[in-house]
Amino acid sequence: MVNLSIVVPCYNEEEVLPETVKRLGMLLGGLAENGKISDSSKVYFVDDGSRDRTWSLIEDFAEKQAFVKGIKLSRNHGHQNALLAGLLTAPGDVLISIDADLQDDLAAIEAMLDAHGEGADVVYGVRKRRDADTFFKRATAEAYYRLLAMLSVDVVFNHADYRLMSRRVIDALSQYDEVNVFLRGIIPQLGFRTSTVYYDRGERFAGETKYRLRNMLSLAWNGVTSFSAAPLRLITGLGFLVSFASFGVTLWVAFVRIFTEAAIPGWASTVVPIYFLGGIQLLATGVIGEYLAKIYMETKRRPRFIIEKTR
Ligand code: UDP
Ligand code: MG
Repeated sequence: MVNLSIVVPCYNEEEVLPETVKRLGMLLGGLAENGKISDSSKVYFVDDGSRDRTWSLIEDFAEKQAFVKGIKLSRNHGHQNALLAGLLTAPGDVLISIDADLQDDLAAIEAMLDAHGEGADVVYGVRKRRDADTFFKRATAEAYYRLLAMLSVDVVFNHADYRLMSRRVIDALSQYDEVNVFLRGIIPQLGFRTSTVYYDRGERFAGETKYRLRNMLSLAWNGVTSFSAAPLRLITGLGFLVSFASFGVTLWVAFVRIFTEAAIPGWASTVVPIYFLGGIQLLATGVIGEYLAKIYMETKRRPRFIIEKTR
């Protein structure tokens, strides 16, 4: 029987936490009763440096209820890092990550476990619709998923961080020691057998979003720069374009100078270098960028391959 650990990152979640503990407790109880998970399954609450009573609540619940465990981070490290801390610390054969705010339908957990039983190592929870989100969030999120797809970053459309991972997947994940974690990009890179479970996303049970626009932008930027060197390549492309155009301009200037009377003295020698140097500079920046991209990828020390099993 699988030993399940649910990982819940919490940042200033005192308003929702009691309800979350209650519902997760009921869920675990029910699943254990039906023989889907072992009754030593746990929930790991990761306190991401909350400024409110979140941690003392977690401590209280952990004292009273055997299924509650707590991990406290030294300060606010951000959602992705809190999640990673939980995933790499919690034991268990199967780990499921979910937000503290009960926006993601808990019923999907049983479906995830079933998919895992059928052999999937990663099960993505994907939102059927996003009508609980504001128009702004929906529009920016969709545009962003499209952008990532365009830059050929492999992400699952409309999937946030609600997912099941087997121990094998967690072991593979632990080999990624990059500093800027974007789990939504890393997990699809790991490979393994994957499956998808669809669910409806609700409103936050209580409290307000902990993801300010700044966090969203930083997550979005991380997603692009951690998985794609395309922006750097764009500079190189631009450099080529300008250099090429400046070559054309040079020909034109030379033509005007030699074959017409329209050229003002000193004009050609001023105009040509402007175009030419601009192009060369961009090109040089682009080439430096290319190497920077290589060094950048290397310093991440990502594993080159991952062995799924041996015999
Ligand atoms: N969270 C966190 N650290 C942060 C910000 C958020 O651990 O710095 C947690 C938060 O407690 C919640 C989850 O990440 O469990 C998602 O945050 P939220 O629900 O506020 O984001 P939204 O659903 O609005 O995108
Ligand atoms: Mg939320």
